[in-house]
Amino acid sequence: RNPPFCKFPSSPKFNNTFEPKPRHSDHLKALIKQRRALPIFPVRAKLLSELEKQDFVILIGETGSGKTTQIPQFLHEQRWDRKGAICITQPRRVAAITISKRVAEEMDTKLGGLVGYSVRFEEAVSQSTKLKFVTDGMLMREAIVDPLLSKYSWIILDEAHERTISTDVLFGIVKDAHKNRKANGKDPLKVIIMSATMDVDHFSNYFHKCPVLYVEGRQHPIDMLYAKEKQDDYVLTSMSTVFQIHKEAPPQHDILVFLTGQEEIDSVVHTIRQIAKDSSLSEYPRLRVHPLYAALPAHQQLEVFRATAEGERKVIVSTNIAETSITIPGIRYVVDSGRAKIRSYHPNSGFDMLKVRKISQAQAWQRAGRAGREAAGHCYRGFTREEFDALELNPVPEILRSNLASVILQLLAIGIKNVLTFDFIDKPSPEHVQEAIEQLTLLGAVTVQSETLELTETGKKMAQFPLEPRYAKVILSGPEYGCTDEVLSIIAALSSESVFVSPSGKREAAANAKRKFISVEGDHITLLKIIRAFKSVKSNKMWCHENFLNFRNLTYALEVRKQLVQVCQRCGVNISSCQQNFDAVRRCLVAGLFTSVSELQLDGRYLTLAAKQEATIHPSSVLFGGKPAYVLFTELVHTGQTYMHVNTPVDAQWLYDVAPEYFRKRHIKINP
Ligand code: ADP
Ligand code: MG
Repeated sequence: RNPPFCKFPSSPKFNNTFEPKPRHSDHLKALIKQRRALPIFPVRAKLLSELEKQDFVILIGETGSGKTTQIPQFLHEQRWDRKGAICITQPRRVAAITISKRVAEEMDTKLGGLVGYSVRFEEAVSQSTKLKFVTDGMLMREAIVDPLLSKYSWIILDEAHERTISTDVLFGIVKDAHKNRKANGKDPLKVIIMSATMDVDHFSNYFHKCPVLYVEGRQHPIDMLYAKEKQDDYVLTSMSTVFQIHKEAPPQHDILVFLTGQEEIDSVVHTIRQIAKDSSLSEYPRLRVHPLYAALPAHQQLEVFRATAEGERKVIVSTNIAETSITIPGIRYVVDSGRAKIRSYHPNSGFDMLKVRKISQAQAWQRAGRAGREAAGHCYRGFTREEFDALELNPVPEILRSNLASVILQLLAIGIKNVLTFDFIDKPSPEHVQEAIEQLTLLGAVTVQSETLELTETGKKMAQFPLEPRYAKVILSGPEYGCTDEVLSIIAALSSESVFVSPSGKREAAANAKRKFISVEGDHITLLKIIRAFKSVKSNKMWCHENFLNFRNLTYALEVRKQLVQVCQRCGVNISSCQQNFDAVRRCLVAGLFTSVSELQLDGRYLTLAAKQEATIHPSSVLFGGKPAYVLFTELVHTGQTYMHVNTPVDAQWLYDVAPEYFRKRHIKINP
């Protein structure tokens, strides 16, 4: 736990402060009253005197204590933004937008004037903007053009504990900007790192041993409840817990449910609303159910903050956005599924994607804390005490769980060339970096010129795709083989969980159903045929059921496909179809995935060409039982032995055609 507040002395200098004035509207008077009641308010003078002295400060405070909304206003009230604006970063766009709205309201100004925001595809700023709320990604892009961040006198890096790649990179950028501004005799850059909880020593050491200040939040006792036994379905568990609470809790005691993603949350909101209509529930408070996730339209986000009326109960079903970024009034109950969607990299599959994962203990405590803001609360954990104890203590920084080839491509795209010497707070290992650079060179994304890395035109386009670089390369090779349409479907299908369903007891029927789509040309073409069929029946759920296909995962794949099509359009990639010319599709797969190929040996075993590792065709593959000379695989999975998953037979000549040097070194034999 954090030590109690008060590590620094008070100063009478900053005790001058605002009061509601007779000319203020009732609404504004009420807002001022709310501001003055925030935990951060009594320590305002102490905070300011410290901020005046220090260039770097770490500020830790419980969620809801007033850091994000108040600190920028405190600085502005001192006119410390005379020479340059105050920039506050958020990992999420929805937080940047809602918070800037709230601050504009508190300051009684129009959004886009003194207070503004800037996120990708959307902004409300002007010449007069002094308090600017931005996503970390936006500020990172600004730094490419203006590495000294000369527009700003204050940079506040908020939600630092989230450790997004952009925030991690910004840590290095502000440190550098601070140093260079000093060296050039410019006005100093002042930096505040804010967070709810984090490893303060690690951060303080990184920022020149800067002071750490604490604000104590209002925390009422929370009654913790765990599942008695392990639950198989966290979504169902969460929903039944909501109704259990609903039948017991008094009205206006609101419930906050933590689930993982938009699709899941929308469906849960729908189900809860349906069940709430049931007459057996009519004696209980009226239910108002709201989703909350980053992509939600602004007016729907604001609904969440609306106070509950008499005889009513609010249920908010949210992603981890309500963990620390956004504070919702009225919450007395938290239902924690223990899951979140996080970006993760699977070294063997090469995919970098959002996956539902278990959260860390630190996150679980943050979630629980949401129940005790206004009064004593309750937290229902949909997992056992033992499961909780087995969770990681802290979330792993995104940069350490992402594919480095992707990270380096991103860094180069934003103009950071010295990847190896960049001052990361947590450095990836040099071998790891070197490996990633080699991969990028092979894919034609970068060139090394007199020891510096340069992004090629292809590399610039690859950086636009939310995919691991070699998959982006497959898509970018589409026009050359005339099959962009087909590879988009395949890559989209690969980025979803399995599209096949094989219920125990119906294995035979499932296998028969699959036979309809099977192609001797391999698993990738089989996937392509399934996606084509799914599209032609207009995403029919019944059809999926009859064919033992997973409707949810296929729908997801089409959603991913749509997004990839948009990126193609942005990059000017021509989307043409090769119809039934599946050789073209297989050659196109080789163009990006040629480092994931294994070769048949004389004794009938397969060895991977990259690492000479033994691997076996998995029984679920359509190639199982056959012995093609070269197999392109998507994923290596270690379960007892090493299996190749999702495979396509390829021709040795195709390998030579795309990467002659690489394969010459590996002495592959061209078929006679
Ligand atoms: P912190 O950054 O310390 O977590 P914030 O400054 O974000 O705290 O929020 C302080 C308080 O302001 C919250 O507890 C909440 O009561 C109120 N608040 C913030 N944003 C809004 C909003 N959009 N609508 C209503 N109240 C809000
Ligand atoms: Mg905050």
